[in-house]
Amino acid sequence: MNAPAVRQLIVVLGDQLDRNSAAFEGFDPTLDLIWMAEVSDESTRIPVTQPRIALFLSAMRHFREELRACGWRVDYRELTSEPASLAGALEAALAQHRPQSIVMVEAGEWQLRESLRGVIKQSGTAFRELEDRHFICTHDEFAEHCKGRKQLRMEYFYREMRRRHRILLDAEGQPEGGEWNYDNENRKTFGKAGPQGLLRTTPKSFPPDALTREVISLVKVRFPTHAGQLEDFDWPVTRNDAREALDDFIENRLASFGDYQDAMWTNEPWLFHSRIAAALNVKLLDPREVITAAEEAYRQGRVPLAAAEGFIRQVLGWREYVRGIYWRMMPGYLEKNALAAEQPLPEFFWTGQTDMHCLRQAIEQTLQLGYAHHIQRLMVTGLFCLLLGVDPQAVHRWYLSVYVDAVEWVELPNTLGMSQYADGGVLASKPYVASGKYIDRMSNYCASCRYDPGESVGPSACPFTTLYWDFLLRHQESLAGNTRMALQLRNLGKLTDLQRERVREQARSLRATLRGAARSNLAS
Ligand code: FAD
Ligand code: SF4
Repeated sequence: MNAPAVRQLIVVLGDQLDRNSAAFEGFDPTLDLIWMAEVSDESTRIPVTQPRIALFLSAMRHFREELRACGWRVDYRELTSEPASLAGALEAALAQHRPQSIVMVEAGEWQLRESLRGVIKQSGTAFRELEDRHFICTHDEFAEHCKGRKQLRMEYFYREMRRRHRILLDAEGQPEGGEWNYDNENRKTFGKAGPQGLLRTTPKSFPPDALTREVISLVKVRFPTHAGQLEDFDWPVTRNDAREALDDFIENRLASFGDYQDAMWTNEPWLFHSRIAAALNVKLLDPREVITAAEEAYRQGRVPLAAAEGFIRQVLGWREYVRGIYWRMMPGYLEKNALAAEQPLPEFFWTGQTDMHCLRQAIEQTLQLGYAHHIQRLMVTGLFCLLLGVDPQAVHRWYLSVYVDAVEWVELPNTLGMSQYADGGVLASKPYVASGKYIDRMSNYCASCRYDPGESVGPSACPFTTLYWDFLLRHQESLAGNTRMALQLRNLGKLTDLQRERVREQARSLRATLRGAARSNLAS
């Protein structure tokens, strides 16, 4: 019998591009082999948009080059049709290399983790699965946080994380500035003048190098029918680029991040956002270095406390919290549909072709860049789906396919929980519902829209406003016990019977039109 050729096979997934990964500890280039694979399933199971495919493939291939430059052996399987799944590709690799053992950091997606575990178990090879130390909160710590709590809320988790890791604390161990949270200072709008006078620079761009250009051509050939464009692709795809993107944000945009994180403006996709989520999620950046950079900028007097705190809350609070929720709630979380929503996703989500200006802006930039910022995701596209009553599974599939930063552990709780309230209140304490007036206040979209955000019925009625009142009418009974909905339900109580009937009728007609459009497009 031949001796095994490989001592350890180190499996590296497309979102594990971290040179400091625990999987590389004790790596011996003469004995061990790194295995990476591009498989078509990852782009076709849900039809992923072209920018997201390009980002993952380009970042993976750059990482492969970086590893090989260190003299490490990498068996890298470039995109082929068969085997189509990662589990199938791993099975073939195990048969080929017959390693003594397999080492891998746990996969970030429940279904993938299960299928890889299955293949490895069947092969009978010794297996070491390591916890992902990229994350600041371990599974055990999150379980400990949940113990004895009837209800989970991000704010309490966040305070615990600040205390445990001594982030933004004063000498007495109290929150810097006396408050844990400066959220009420994070809701400014640009006013009529817009953001132009405030924006110092556009974010640093990373034009495609030869390797990325090769990937872009491949994606165009292999996935020609997938939505999205590649002409403006300029995402950081290496560790160095990612660090430069972070430094650029800290230097030029963090100072205003706090004030304007909820604001939107026509043709301004980035505003004061960091655009580092994709780099974080494929592990080119470590959340600790991101938090340290923001805290240092505050301590050196370069940015206000509310800006640093607002940003750190997203990375240390929300990002770690939604991951904890994902692993705690899976696999059942995927099936949740607390509001029994069943409308199909409107077809214009794949084209941007709608006369609703806010949606056209958010969707067109999403398809062009693979990016929309949080409030566009939550309070434009997400809000429309929630109010219309779209099947949360369809909403989930859309979000998972269109953003360059989309990975299930972070996308699913944000979509199903925060945005669609499909988990019935596990993640958010109330549904994030608002009328078109909210969008009007936070942006200039309505000024060039054919609809009027103040109208709920009639030919100029803003569909958001119609559907907002209709949502409250449809769900008033189930939401009646929620004190955070009291004001909105009190306002609903002021509508006359006639107003209610007209809202219902207009909402019915809107749904029928959008359902018809979705059907005829599916049929064609
Ligand atoms: P910034 O606005 O600059 O924020 C800084 C960082 O904080 C982000 O890079 C991100 O790492 C983190 N962050 C901010 N908000 C959240 C949040 N709610 N949950 C987790 N982390 C957060 N984020 C993803 O990374 N991947 C997704 O697939 C994803 N899907 C989403 C779907 C919906 C419906 C919603 C409402 C939000 C989603 N988010 C997702 C969260 C958030 O919108 C994005 O992280 C953010 O817009 C990315 O842009 P940015 O890097 O410029 O972030
Ligand atoms: Fe959107 Fe309504 Fe404003 Fe038009 S009027 S931009 S549809 S919120």
